[in-house]
Amino acid sequence: MPSKGSAYRAEGNPTLRTVCAHCGKSIPTEVGHAHPLDVDLRRETWGLVGYHAALKTVFATCTACHDTGWQPPEFERGN
Ligand SMILES: [Zn+2]
Repeated sequence: MPSKGSAYRAEGNPTLRTVCAHCGKSIPTEVGHAHPLDVDLRRETWGLVGYHAALKTVFATCTACHDTGWQPPEFERGN
């Protein structure tokens, strides 16, 4: 699968968006920087791992909610 210019990439693709698990804001599905050299560009999407109905689930979370310290139900810290 091509990594650039593909419909499966979220960058610049309005169809590949999800909503924040907390506030419902529209955010890109892709986690991380748009480009490794875009050091000044803050990531918009944070993948927080929690559990939903006993299944490990990644909760897409916007920067604003991440900054407030919001965590999904039964948030699992990385240790
Ligand atoms: Zn949010």
